[in-house]
Formats: sequence, C-alpha cells, structure tokens
Amino acid sequence: MRSGLWAICLSLGLAACTAAPSSDVVRQPANVGDAKIAALSYKNSGQYDRDLTAVAAKAQSWLTRRSPAVARPALVLDIDETALSNWPVIQRDDFGRPIGGPCDLAADAPCGWAAWDQLGVDEAIAPTLALYRAAIAAKVDVFFITGRPENQRMATERNLVTAGYAGYAKLYMVPDGAHFPSASAFKAPIRAQIEQQGYTIVANVGDQPSDLAGGHAEKAFQLPNPFYRVP
Ligand SMILES: [Mg+2]
Repeated sequence: MRSGLWAICLSLGLAACTAAPSSDVVRQPANVGDAKIAALSYKNSGQYDRDLTAVAAKAQSWLTRRSPAVARPALVLDIDETALSNWPVIQRDDFGRPIGGPCDLAADAPCGWAAWDQLGVDEAIAPTLALYRAAIAAKVDVFFITGRPENQRMATERNLVTAGYAGYAKLYMVPDGAHFPSASAFKAPIRAQIEQQGYTIVANVGDQPSDLAGGHAEKAFQLPNPFYRVP
C-alpha cells in the first residue's frame, strides 16, 4: 500500500506528497478550547470585574456630570452581562449557549438558557448596580432594553428587583415569536421611541456592540464580555 502510494507520489513529483505547509495552518480561526481557557482565566483572575468597574465608573462620571444639563435625562441598560450576571450558567454550559432544554441546578448537566432565565436567580453586576443607584439618586429615569422575550417578563422583573434594580422606569422585551436580524435592529428603534417621549438618553450601556449600534444615545459604554456574542 505504502510503496504504491510512493509510486504515485514519485509520478506526480515529491512536492505533491509533502505535509500541509504551515501557511495553511495559520489561516485557521482561534482554537475554541484555548479561548475558553483564556476566558475562564480572565474571569477567575478578577480582571473581568476590574474591567467592568472601570467602564461603569466612566459611565457614572459622565452621567452625573451631564444629566443635570438636560431636561429629561435617561439611562438605558441592557440586562444580560450588563445589569445581571449569568456566570453560573455560562460556567455550567462550558461557554455553550443552548436556548432550549431544562435547567436542573441539582443535576450535573448543562442548562437551557430560557429555563435558566425563568429561574430568575441572577445576581447583579455590582458596578452596573452602582451606576443604576447613582442614576436613581440623580433623578435619571432608567430603561432596560433586553433581547429576552416577553414570556420571561415576570421572572425578569422579579429578578431585577431582587438583585437591587427597583424603581426603574420601564423594561422593554422582544415580543414572543418576533425575530430581528440583530439586537440593534430591535434596540435602536426603542431608544428612538424613548427620545420621542422627550427624554435625552445620556448614556447607553451594554456588553455587546449590538446593544450600542444605531445611535440614539449621547454616549455608549461597552462592558467586557468575552464569553459569548450576540449579533
Ligand atoms: Mg447583554
């Protein structure tokens, strides 16, 4: 078999039988296993929390400086990995994002994200909660705009309050069954609606570029999230 292969190789020329050149290898995407190790290290080292704190502090500084100068100041917040942390399910799912399926916290098994959201047990992202409290104290109305569907409203509203986000102005959620090509296609028009009510959105804070794209905010602040991407 091998001698037959070599005979073919010789007939084609030896160059055709050499190993794949390294230039082919460098074009492959980042190794997902390596990326997961790096993301875990980023979280466990405390750097994630420090970066969250740094971005939220910039947003808070801008908000407290700017909001007294506008008539109806508003703050817009995303929910997942912005106001609330899903770290327990991110870790449990090994950075996967299965939406369907059960979530039994007593079982040694992955969780479906929809079932996880219905549990309503997320903890606050502390630097964002500090920003939220500063906004409320400064009489800034806070709007949440989330990609979560309406069928998660009860669990999400309860979770927001138990995590410390009481007293917000309104929570916008995706209508059940609706599909958008990107989060920005849903979120930017809602920010426009808020402006049409007479508000100035002083700051828009999210963890995904798609939370912030499309304008309708004086300044946008992107929190770190190397754990998943929302188009
Ligand atoms: Mg998010």
